[in-house]
Amino acid sequence: MESIQSLQAKLESGSASAVALAQASLEKIESTKKLNAYISVLNERALEKAAESDKRRAEGKTLGALDGIPVAVKDNMCLVGTRTTAASKILDNFVAPYTATAVEKLEAAGAVIVGKTNMDEFAMGSSSESSFYGPVINPLDETRVPGGSSGGSAVAVASGTVACALGSDTGGSIRQPAACTGVVGLKPTYGRVSRYGLLAYASSLDQIGPFGATVADCATVLNAICGIDPHDNTTSTRPVEDFGAKLNQGIKGKVIGVPKEYFGEGLDAECKATIEGMLKKMEAEGATLKEVSLPNIGFAVSSYYIIATAEASSNLSRYDGVRYGYRSKEAKKLFDLYAKSRSEGFGKEVQRRIMLGSYVLSAGFYDAYYVQAQKVRRLITDDFNKAFESCDVIASPTMPGLPLKCGMNESDPMAVYLSDIYTVSLNLSGLPGVSVPCGMAGGLPIGLQWIGKPFQEADLLAVAAATEQLNK
Ligand code: GLN
Repeated sequence: MESIQSLQAKLESGSASAVALAQASLEKIESTKKLNAYISVLNERALEKAAESDKRRAEGKTLGALDGIPVAVKDNMCLVGTRTTAASKILDNFVAPYTATAVEKLEAAGAVIVGKTNMDEFAMGSSSESSFYGPVINPLDETRVPGGSSGGSAVAVASGTVACALGSDTGGSIRQPAACTGVVGLKPTYGRVSRYGLLAYASSLDQIGPFGATVADCATVLNAICGIDPHDNTTSTRPVEDFGAKLNQGIKGKVIGVPKEYFGEGLDAECKATIEGMLKKMEAEGATLKEVSLPNIGFAVSSYYIIATAEASSNLSRYDGVRYGYRSKEAKKLFDLYAKSRSEGFGKEVQRRIMLGSYVLSAGFYDAYYVQAQKVRRLITDDFNKAFESCDVIASPTMPGLPLKCGMNESDPMAVYLSDIYTVSLNLSGLPGVSVPCGMAGGLPIGLQWIGKPFQEADLLAVAAATEQLNK
């Protein structure tokens, strides 16, 4: 599908109606069904909302840049009256009783939600293979995963079913699938977007953000969904700016921090060369490259997997087979009901995470694992603060290599955890990050991750837009 901007121009000139755009989107979803990007398609609802948009436009009451634009939402965000599953059997029959704030804001801006997208179960994973509804297929190479956990949202944009989509990012789940499918994915600063109505994975790390075909589209969506929310006390009171205001600023005069730890061992040679090639082009445009150091970054993955699983084990305790969701038919006694509903309802990866999390929080190991991980989290945040004293933005690969081959989550889960090496540190420190395509290798896209200062998304997106220009 075209960019928001070009669709908007068609709506304004009258050469397309919102209903026609919704119909085209629904048809494209049908014709690309084998990619398995969607868990639910909201045919009727979408056409109704699109008709409302057309009516508003006819009355001269449009709601702004997203009015009438088809969008998709990851299936871990509530939308009232529709199924919200987090790709888990345990929520297969769950119908949301209210709408997540970010989703509500998207609709308040006139966007037309055409469907809920497939993902790793409860957003745990980097491959979008652990869904109860089957894996998401990468349209660029079917033998490789589309990245995860928001793989459905990334593929929804990459395959042209929608102009933009929402994902959630706890340790890279927006940025990685964006890199694997050649689109733009933005994780805002922690607190920028409300998490109310997002089915929690790890509350101190989770953040909702946009996917788009262009950087400008991501800015447009962030403008719509951000801001303070009385339902989420971690949303920031900072004033909200226009995140697209600086997109034409270019890269001249910017100091780009290049962490030496990020470009050494473990990074695929072709990815490295492609990213360094882009950085050279930026230097030629007047940016300065400055080596910086993140000395504690080597501990990021291990501390992330301790904190994320600890929080997950607590957050997922609410799925008990009693209040909502799947209930085992086998159970005779109360304890059995909990144990059987959870054993039958949760998939293997989710169970592994709950066990890991319960272990690191248990009385004998709490100090050795959880407390240590929290200390490392502080050290990593300090490393970034120090690095940002001498640069405006930090460059990093999004992934250590090309998208992973299908099936690795089964055969080598550790290798999959390690592929999060460049993304998790931003969640640990709350920083914003965006993955932008910066070149190709073997017909597959390579993502460049830009890391920004807290709440400086407008500056971050300006650098991302410059990358996009230089990649043309
Ligand atoms: N791959 C990471 C994990 O499995 C990140 C997932 C995410 O960002 N939701 O925890």
